[in-house]
Amino acid sequence: MADNILVQLEGVGKSFKRADGAPRRVLDGVDFTLREGEIVAMLGKSGSGKSTLLRIVAGLIPLDAGRAVYLGQPITGPAPGVAMVFQSFALFPWLTVQQNVELGLEAQGVPAAERERRADDVLEMIGLAGFGGALPRELSGGMRQRVGIARALVTNPDVLLMDEAFSALDVLTGETLRDDILALWDSKQIPTRGIVVVSHNIEEAVMMADRIVILSSDPGRIASEVRIDLPRPRDVDSPRVRALVDQVY
Ligand code: ADP
Ligand code: MG
Repeated sequence: MADNILVQLEGVGKSFKRADGAPRRVLDGVDFTLREGEIVAMLGKSGSGKSTLLRIVAGLIPLDAGRAVYLGQPITGPAPGVAMVFQSFALFPWLTVQQNVELGLEAQGVPAAERERRADDVLEMIGLAGFGGALPRELSGGMRQRVGIARALVTNPDVLLMDEAFSALDVLTGETLRDDILALWDSKQIPTRGIVVVSHNIEEAVMMADRIVILSSDPGRIASEVRIDLPRPRDVDSPRVRALVDQVY
């Protein structure tokens, strides 16, 4: 396998039981590759299996057909190098910002003093310096998602998976956060080697990604792919970006 491949999916399938007990095939023969240095956006209608696919890559749920590989090893559970950001933030409401961010490091057995230092650093990087002692409910939605992103980045993941990470936020807040993450990535302030952005927002995908793949439902598989050879930051009003948005529609 080429050494620049971070994640490879081959013929991935996944079924869930319907309420009547019959299986429903959500993913069927998904082929997907994430290479070193790429941001790939995955677009698809609601219910097409985008979150299911990300959960498989994150090792949160098993696949039932095909192969999923991270850095050459089959994915059998959560891997330390793969971190996920959730649409609903998924913070623990009774823990402080600092404690939420340190959680990922606790699981890896990082000592307390180092956890604190790394959490401080990542909170500062993401614009939350001084908020470590706050509870999630004391923060705005945009700040809560910054905590979710800090919790993912504090482990220095190779692969960052973002599941509709901006869609619970108002447009301006979501765009600001998106641009902040792109700036960290483009300036190499984070050691992340590849990002998968799941979205149902075509504009967001065109603004962020080097490549867009489209997951079609019934059955869920990658139906098409668009390459985006435009430098970032991109201007949403530029003719080339508008043309790409129209092309993906
Ligand atoms: P998307 O993220 O593209 O909106 P999902 O991956 O969340 O789609 O879901 C795809 C389909 O799988 C939906 O019909 C959803 O109801 C179903 N599904 C997802 N997770 C489960 C589960 N744990 N049990 C049963 N059905 C599920
Ligand atoms: Mg989803």
